[in-house]
Amino acid sequence: MKGNYMTTKEIVLTGDRPTGKLHLGHYVGSLKNRVHLQANSQNKLFVMIADQQALTDHAKDPEKIRKSLYDVALDYLAVGLDPKLATLFVQSQIPELAELTMYYMNLVSIARLHRNPTVKTEIEQKGYGGSVPTGFFVYPISQASDITAFKAMKVPVGNDQKPMIEQTREIVRSFNYTYQTNVLVEPKGLYPDNEAAGRLPGLDGNTKMSKSLNNGIFLADDANTLQKKVMSMYTDPNHVRVEDPGQIEENMVFHYLDVFGRAEDFKQIQAMKEHYQHGGLGDVKVKRYLLEILNRELEPIRKKREMYAQDLGEITRILKKGSKQAQAVVAQTLSEVKTAMGINYFS
Ligand code: ATP
Ligand code: MG
Repeated sequence: MKGNYMTTKEIVLTGDRPTGKLHLGHYVGSLKNRVHLQANSQNKLFVMIADQQALTDHAKDPEKIRKSLYDVALDYLAVGLDPKLATLFVQSQIPELAELTMYYMNLVSIARLHRNPTVKTEIEQKGYGGSVPTGFFVYPISQASDITAFKAMKVPVGNDQKPMIEQTREIVRSFNYTYQTNVLVEPKGLYPDNEAAGRLPGLDGNTKMSKSLNNGIFLADDANTLQKKVMSMYTDPNHVRVEDPGQIEENMVFHYLDVFGRAEDFKQIQAMKEHYQHGGLGDVKVKRYLLEILNRELEPIRKKREMYAQDLGEITRILKKGSKQAQAVVAQTLSEVKTAMGINYFS
């Protein structure tokens, strides 16, 4: 690669919208994969807090975005993202990303945007009807800019992001073909190995766990809140008496056990499944077991989060420094893009 950012490392780009605290869906869908990738010195990670994307459906509530910026950064540090190894940055601090979006928008038709199934579902959930904000409708294009600006090859995300990765790959092919260049790199999505984790359902069991749907267990939840949430989880509505046979399919407690159980727990989980299906095992017992497993995972994260929350000034410093580093990389790509398009008139 030319310019001031030279690396032979594999670039990884990923991020989250600062629309609230991060939840278990983020943890199993993407955060765990990121920490794993960070541990390999062959990878260089960029992790973006996507505040501009969050504003596409929260234009009237910038205060929420501002506050969530810190919540998301604290969650990152708590799960083990290390600012010495991963560049943590804020989208709005890099105006070059929006410029790149302007050029990509001309390569994507409105019909193509309408076909994105994730955006379609989100539009329905938000009840926009005919009044979808333009910024929201085009956010997959902006996401393509975020990924390609770093020439990222790997993007660790949950399954809901598959259409975004596909669309990014199309934009890369279209750009490189249109301007007869190889400036842009086609990324690959990295999804969780465990199928049950790729789209973790919410506590209600209906939809994906999501910040906007208020159906999540947050990494920052204290032990009491966690207990209340687990005890209220959706199980088998027909499992009324303990002795009744119960269903483990679409039963959130068993789904979460499959996701959060470790290899050493599998035997016990299997035994509980059989007992439950046969009858004689009450929901409360299974929930207590799940609670134990979740606390084992979340207790160290909670402790680290509390520690980092003592010094928010340090969070600001980390994000400011990371944003500066990220901007240098994006400016370089943007310059190459404009040269490829023949519009770098004065340089
Ligand atoms: P919002 O409701 O504001 O869109 P969200 O909960 O969907 O928030 P995002 O910030 O949009 O979270 O997603 C960040 C990352 O977390 C993405 O890679 C996404 O695929 C992943 N992710 C989000 N929710 C889940 C989930 N329930 N299961 C697995 N991965 C998830
Ligand atoms: Mg989302």
